[in-house]
Amino acid sequence: MTRRKFLKTCFAAAGLTVLGGWNLRAWAGGRQDQSGVPGVPQGRAEHRPRYLDLEASGELERRERALWAKMENCDLCPRRCHVNRMAGIAGVCRVSNTFRVASTRVGFGEERTIVGRRGTGEIFFSNCNLLCIFCQNWQIAHRGDGRILTHDQLADIMISLQNRGAGNINLITPTHLTPHIVSAVRLAIARGLNVPLIYNTSGYETLEVIRLLDGIIDIYQPDFKFQDSNIAIRFLQGAPDYAGYAATAIREMHRQVGTLREINGAAYRGLLVRHLVLPENLSGTDTFVRWIVSQLGADTHVNIMPQFWPAFQSRYHPPLHRRLIPGEFDQAMRWAREAGLRNFH
Ligand code: SF4
Repeated sequence: MTRRKFLKTCFAAAGLTVLGGWNLRAWAGGRQDQSGVPGVPQGRAEHRPRYLDLEASGELERRERALWAKMENCDLCPRRCHVNRMAGIAGVCRVSNTFRVASTRVGFGEERTIVGRRGTGEIFFSNCNLLCIFCQNWQIAHRGDGRILTHDQLADIMISLQNRGAGNINLITPTHLTPHIVSAVRLAIARGLNVPLIYNTSGYETLEVIRLLDGIIDIYQPDFKFQDSNIAIRFLQGAPDYAGYAATAIREMHRQVGTLREINGAAYRGLLVRHLVLPENLSGTDTFVRWIVSQLGADTHVNIMPQFWPAFQSRYHPPLHRRLIPGEFDQAMRWAREAGLRNFH
């Protein structure tokens, strides 16, 4: 056994990791600091949230300014309402210059790799830029239920979730609020934020904004709901271009963070695409899985979800007035296997 292998074995038994250059550092949520940034967990440079380096270099402040500039003539999402939200005018998302949060918690109900052993720090933002007629959280997304917060309070929530053990901060429905979120992240970094950020989105994103998030977000968790614009236009309030925007955004997300990677059973970087199977294959699952394999590769992590139920206005829009019937979800999983996907469930 070489000296390096011997030390690796000893350190592994002690729950530690040997790194390149003979540096020994602890990970697993460790709080020791050798990085110059208070509270930064120790691990390989690869495991460190990249937003810490962006903040240190001043780049995060530049991104924050670029996102805020969009609020004055809003094109933060493909709706491109071009309203001055800073002047109190709201667009399709019904949000002007303030923001609401519906709930926060350390959650254990998401995908295994997102939850890890420590749970995921969920922050549910109110309102939405996509507004599906089958929305399962319509009180939050359409009606805007939630409490108005300041950036200071949002930063405190991030730190509180981290201190309660969350292995990441899970930003749910963030698209229309990206300037607020980045401002709060900068405040939270100064208070010791050091866990990965998850961008948990409907997929209705512009390439420009996703590029501004490069290096800020460690894990992208987009939906890819529809493949066919003619179908999408019936169920997404006036968003016939959903499929094209989602495809372009997801390709860019994959370029930034690559395939999902884990440490100790918890994702620290990468892409996880979600796809809700709809009755009569309105979601185009066969097309979706082939697109994933051809565009992103067979190792892409995909969650094919069976839990559709006729929420909100679904009952007026057959076949969304019913749940999946026996065989529909099995067929979706067969398509995934036949397409060659290797990391799906
Ligand atoms: S974020 Fe809201 S206001 Fe801005 S373009 Fe999208 S829907 Fe319109």
